[in-house]
This record gives sequence, structure tokens and C-alpha cells, in this order.
Amino acid sequence: PAPLAFPALEQIYAHLPRGFHAPVTPARAPAPRLLVLNTALCRDLGIDPGALTAQAWAGLLSGNRLPRGTEPVAMAYAGHQFGQFVPQLGDGRALLLGEIWDADGGLRDLHLKGAGRTPFSRTGDGRAALGPVLREYLVSEAMHALGIPTTRALGAVATGETVARDTPQPGAILARVAASHIRVGTFEYFAARQDIPALRQLADLTLARHPPREATEDHPYRALLASAVERQARLVAQWMCVGFVHGVMNTDNTALSGETLDYGPCAFLDVYRPGAVFSSIDHHGRYAYGNQPRMAEWNLTRLAECLLPLMDPDPQRAVDRVMPILERFPERIGDYWLEGMRRKLGLEGAEAEDAPLIRDLLELMEREEADFTLTFRHLTTLAGDPEHPAAPPGWSRGEAFASWRDRWQRRLGREPGDAARPARIMARANPVRIPRNHRLEQALESARAGNLGPFMNLLEAVTHPFEDRPQWAVFDTPPEPGERVTRTFCG
Ligand code: AMP
Ligand code: MG
Ligand code: MG
Repeated sequence: PAPLAFPALEQIYAHLPRGFHAPVTPARAPAPRLLVLNTALCRDLGIDPGALTAQAWAGLLSGNRLPRGTEPVAMAYAGHQFGQFVPQLGDGRALLLGEIWDADGGLRDLHLKGAGRTPFSRTGDGRAALGPVLREYLVSEAMHALGIPTTRALGAVATGETVARDTPQPGAILARVAASHIRVGTFEYFAARQDIPALRQLADLTLARHPPREATEDHPYRALLASAVERQARLVAQWMCVGFVHGVMNTDNTALSGETLDYGPCAFLDVYRPGAVFSSIDHHGRYAYGNQPRMAEWNLTRLAECLLPLMDPDPQRAVDRVMPILERFPERIGDYWLEGMRRKLGLEGAEAEDAPLIRDLLELMEREEADFTLTFRHLTTLAGDPEHPAAPPGWSRGEAFASWRDRWQRRLGREPGDAARPARIMARANPVRIPRNHRLEQALESARAGNLGPFMNLLEAVTHPFEDRPQWAVFDTPPEPGERVTRTFCG
């Protein structure tokens, strides 16, 4: 076949020493078919989506045809899974094709997920099923549209194969773009082997790919840890502000880039409940909605342990170096959270009573079993229209809400700027629409039956999360009791 009209990929990770990865050949997809292509992301990557035919895209994104000079590798990593250390995980069903320069001059990884077995597959089949592939596509693109750092979906292809799951499923591959796939688990892989030169090489690569934004640390590896703390604090605070539950915050799913990584059993809250758990494998609620800040801190502590040998030859001094950095995390996530929640209430200034105002609202919401997204949209309407009937629809404690609302209105009165400003801030902080589980499951059900229409409609709606449009109203409401999806699966 003619060469692909696709930019040559960098092979930076592939050219690291052998311990970092294993070479792989993608499994041949018997009948690759392009399901969806992210044309906007193509352009961000400087690729003209029209330069390749749908068939050529399917060949590329299935791994059947590789850009010139590509040496696919599976990346090595370890990880703590639900608190248990596993010294070797690695890409068991994904491979790195290489790195590509985006239009902003940044480097991004291009991964294929579901392209067959690798030396890290253990007992797995190296495949991905259509449902989970489309799920990751849609939720990651919704996250991006919500303004939350995340890996992106470049495209999805059906392979033409059937994969064995509880019931046989159509096979698919997701082409994933990430600022990098360096994980806390990548550091753990080398730390567990006491391979200090590799650890240092990984740390230097991380610093190059994800330069620390604040120059508060004079030592490069302290800056690396400080930057990871900062990125995780910001990311998880943003999750909390939209009601996102990641579901598998294992260290192998914690990216040094600060992007959301691994969309397995994730879900968005309908009803606000700090203890909400969706994942079928999270038996003890380790990764419950309200636990996520603590779990991020736990993961960063694992990263800090890995970095100790790079901090100081003296073990005690090394600990003394990392502790003050790690200890900043609770305050940093608290600050990001407060800033995000203030914006959700239309507040730009900061007052001491803001935190209790927010906590009291959340407590009311919990007692009312209020829908997280709809409540904040209701408040957005209230901010713009003082005549609007007060309590959110369905609330039973009208008086408690009325007195909370009085406090909020008085607080808004002390904000600088014109009276219309809070409503404008809120309209940009409070999405109309999140990918609700029941709608997503309905769309995936149709896709499995061969009809991609509902998926494409939902994708369009959730990638415009702040736009109120009549044709999308059906996606904006909580599930009826019979429609609720309470369990999600890793796929
Ligand atoms: P995850 O729970 O998605 O973070 O995956 C944990 C580990 O299991 C990673 O090393 C994956 O590469 C591996 N894995 C997950 N699914 C499969 C599969 N179908 N085949 C091979 N490896 C897999
Ligand atoms: Mg993973
Ligand atoms: Mg996964």
C-alpha cells in the first residue's frame, strides 16, 4: 500500500533503554472499520483528518498499518492496586506508537488500546471490547470539554473480531492521545528494582515532558514532586467540582502529567453522596467520591518514596526533603476545591465564611438526595433571576434552603462588579450536562447492536456541556428510578 499521509512519529520512549518497555507487534485486525474520528483533535495535532480515507484511518488506528519508522512498544510499569503492590503490570493491552508534536509545540503520546497481547499481558487477551472503548472515548472527551485535564480520544475502530467477555463482544481499539503515559507506577517499577540510573532517567524525562510551572524548588527532583503534588491537587479538585468518580485510582492510573488517565469503571454522580461508589470491583469503597482527595495523597506518598534515592544520599535527609512538599497537598487541594466551589456559587472574591457556606449547601444536598449537576444549574438560574421560585425542584426542606439562600444572596451582595456577573461566572462553572450513566449505557447498548446514532448524539451533547439546547434536554435529567445505573465495570 501507498505510504500513509501521516506525520512521522517521534520514538523518544522507544529509544530509552530496554528496561523501560518491550517491543510489540500489533495483532492484525481482520476487518478494521473506523467508528469515530476526532477531527478537532486531529487538527490540534496538525493532522488534516481528510488527508486519509476512512479505510486508511482504520488501518492506522487498528495498528494494521504503521507510520514510517514506528517501533511500537508496551511500556513497563508497576503499581499499587487497591493498596496492594504489584511489581510488574505494564501495558498488557496497549502500545505506544510514538510521540507527536501538537500545534502548541507540546509532545503527546499516541497509544493504541486493545491492539493485542504484549509481554505484559499475563493472562489477559490484550483486547478491548466495543463498549468500554466507546465509553472511554465519550467520557474523556466530555472531561476535556468540561475543562478538566485528561487523555484524549483520537479515534475508535472496530476490529472485526469477537472478544470473549461475560458474553462475546465486538472487539475495538481506542487511539488515545496523552501528554504522556508516565505513571506513579512507572517510578515504582524502577524503585522496586532499585534501578537508580533508570529512576533518574525517568525523572529527567518527566521534567522534560511536564516542566514544573512554579519555580519554588531549587532542586530538580524536589521540583518534580512539587509539580506532581500541584497537578494532582488541581485535577482531583476539578473532579470533585463536577461530581466525577474515577473508580480505580491505583498508582498505575495516576499520571505525572496531571491528566485523568484510565476510564474504566468511572461515573458521574447523579445524586450527591460523598460515599458514592460505582465500580463493581471497589468492594470497600476505597475510591468513593469523597475519598478521592485522600487517595490522591496516598498515591503521591508512593511517588515520594520512589524519589527518595534521588533526593539525598542520606536516607533521613531525603525524607526531610520530601515531607514538607508532600504535606502541602491537603492545603493545595483545599485551595483548588474552594476556588472551584466559589465559582460554582458565582463568587470571585474570598471570605472566611465561604467554606462553611459551601459545606452547608452540600450537607443540605446530601439530606435532600439532590442531583449534583441540576442543583448547581438551579442556583445558576436563581443568581440570574431573583424572581425564580426558590428551592430546587423536589426539595422537601424549603425553609432550610430559603435560609441558606439568604446567606448566599447577602454574600453575593458583597461581590465586586455588576449584579449580573455571578450568573455569568456560574454559567461557565456549572455544566448543564455531564455524561450520565444511564444515557451512556443506553447509547453503548445501541452501539453494540450496530447502531452508532445514539452514541454520536450523546457525544455531541456532552462535548458542549455548558450549552442549553432543546434537542439535548433529554440528556440533562437524572435517571428515573427504573433507569438508574449503580454499577460500572472495568471492561
Ligand atoms: P487497569 O485496571 O485498566 O488499570 O489495568 C490493570 C492492568 O491490567 C494493566 O497492566 C493492564 O494493561 C492490564 N489489562 C487490563 N485488561 C487487559 C487485557 N484484556 N489483556 C491484557 N492485559 C490487560
Ligand atoms: Mg490502567
Ligand atoms: Mg483500565
